[in-house]
Amino acid sequence: MECCGIVGHDGAVVPLENTHHDPKFNFLIDNLALTKAHAEHGIAAIYHSHCNFIALPSGGDLELCSWYSLPYLIVSVWPDHGHGLNAQVCAFLLELDNTPYGKHFRGAPEVLECM
Ligand SMILES: [Zn+2]
Repeated sequence: MECCGIVGHDGAVVPLENTHHDPKFNFLIDNLALTKAHAEHGIAAIYHSHCNFIALPSGGDLELCSWYSLPYLIVSVWPDHGHGLNAQVCAFLLELDNTPYGKHFRGAPEVLECM
């Protein structure tokens, strides 16, 4: 199951409930919960996890992400064949454009830490 939440302007990492009907491969944050977190902490970034999948935005991410000016952090973990876990954190910005797709992510995947 994917976890999700926000990183506040005050540095708080605030987990929020994943309300997607298929949370194993998707995430959705309730607008009321997001508004409350925004009021309490501000929102510097939105994060969610990918389990056993690379930290690149999925098609579902592109459809669901609508806070265009915020960085999206994707935290990915996957097993390393008996050597523990790999972990990757990537940040992306969502942009509007004039392509038929209407919006896309901009961002160079950056591995912040691998275990
Ligand atoms: Zn995703």
